[in-house]
Amino acid sequence: MNFIGGKWVPARRGRTMEDRNPADADDLLGEVARSDAGDVADAVEAAQAAYAEWFATPMPKRGDIIRRVGHLLEEQKDDVAAFMTREMGKTLKEARGDVQEGIDFAHYMSGQSRSPIGDTIPSELPRKLSMTMRHPIGIVGLITPWNFPIAIPTWKAWPALLAGNCVVLKAAEDTPLCAQKLVELCAEAGLPAGVLNLVQGTGEEAGAALVSHPDVRAISFTGSLETGKIIAAECGRQMKRYSMELGSKNVTIVMPDADIDLAVEGIAWGAFATSGQRCTATSRVVNLHPDFADALVAKVKTYKVGPGSDESVDLAPLINRTQRDRVLEYIRVGQEDDGARILTGGEPLSDGVLAKGNYIAPTVFTDATPTMRIAQEEIFGPVTAVIPVGNLDEAIAAANSTTYGLSASIYTNDMTAAMRAVTELEFGIVYVNAPTIGAEVQMPFGGMKSTGNGFREAGPHAMDEFSETKAVSIDFSHQLQKAQFRPGE
Ligand code: ADP
Repeated sequence: MNFIGGKWVPARRGRTMEDRNPADADDLLGEVARSDAGDVADAVEAAQAAYAEWFATPMPKRGDIIRRVGHLLEEQKDDVAAFMTREMGKTLKEARGDVQEGIDFAHYMSGQSRSPIGDTIPSELPRKLSMTMRHPIGIVGLITPWNFPIAIPTWKAWPALLAGNCVVLKAAEDTPLCAQKLVELCAEAGLPAGVLNLVQGTGEEAGAALVSHPDVRAISFTGSLETGKIIAAECGRQMKRYSMELGSKNVTIVMPDADIDLAVEGIAWGAFATSGQRCTATSRVVNLHPDFADALVAKVKTYKVGPGSDESVDLAPLINRTQRDRVLEYIRVGQEDDGARILTGGEPLSDGVLAKGNYIAPTVFTDATPTMRIAQEEIFGPVTAVIPVGNLDEAIAAANSTTYGLSASIYTNDMTAAMRAVTELEFGIVYVNAPTIGAEVQMPFGGMKSTGNGFREAGPHAMDEFSETKAVSIDFSHQLQKAQFRPGE
């Protein structure tokens, strides 16, 4: 169902799309509204109708509602996580982490509702007070992917709402019901009708209609680079604001002095958590340690693959058949076209219970070079490529040699190597002795180069994406004062 103006409604034309369990193709979670431009127009109209009152609501009152959603999510954490595992496939542990991120961010942003929203800046003129304040953008569209079905919508919705915008959310077609749950909780927490609307549907129809609607003044998008370019072009044409969180080709450097057990544990987690379907997944390892590749393979071979609902599983299914086939094609490219060598994995798994889902064995390539397609393109699956190099200069050059720049890390105890990595890596997020995944909500999240267009989500500046800066000057001198002019001019 769509949620428009505080009411659950089907798509105008009555069309629906199926929502299935990635671990069990026979498990149909539901038929979800498949919306078009007409439904989007209704949602935008509802958002416009709600705007004036939401704009007039003090920010701490907006924050109170977000905090209440955080509490509701906390109460229902295990149920929402179990449902997420059924809809999206990730393991229960990870699903709980996903919900927890939404909870943490609700509390963080509701705290920000009572924090400063501007600066007081000295004027060059007497009896003149100058300051900045935030102004909402108006109606904003949020377009989200399926890999963090609760966390990512909250990363966008909380700051957008707190800043005073009214929102139309278009959730990913693979995880529409998690978004529905979140919106239900927002309504239960007292968010007024029309302030947050949900339009379900495909990207090409509902998503594109949201992007091109002239009254939607900003789009916040997380997804693939290809789709990001299409959205950015339309937003550019209409001169709307757009913020992009796109793909990446994240990397960990393993130095010869690294604590090898720690590095293996971190990289296995970074590469294979969520079956590699994270925008921060460790899909390259630039390696200088002679024992690393064998140790990683030994670790990965212990992984249990299966449905995420089984608490003992390490590696859950991929989101859908198309994505599974795409990853298998990359594995073929890696071997046949690129000429890299597979150390473990590389095949689909379909024995027993696995036959009903989209499984691929965790896959480690070695002898990759920085220019290979498997070392350049985002795979979004349980695949990582080890790239051997000779020294730190080569390691940093290899790490920086992609068009993307979201997350990088280095394992070393050599302070100079660590400091050079921190300084020279062209990535928006850099870790030392930790994996490329594991963002915390109070830190800015976003990437350099083609990963984005300069905005950062979460963190202290989360509202920048969703608000305008207004420079305000109040002259109480009772005379015309001219900046830059000498007295008498
Ligand atoms: P992925 O499927 O890898 O997450 P996409 O970029 O295709 O990446 O999808 C991310 C989100 O963007 C989804 O909600 C999808 O429906 C939406 N989307 C896809 N194509 C478009 C488009 N042309 N315009 C607007 N939204 C789109």
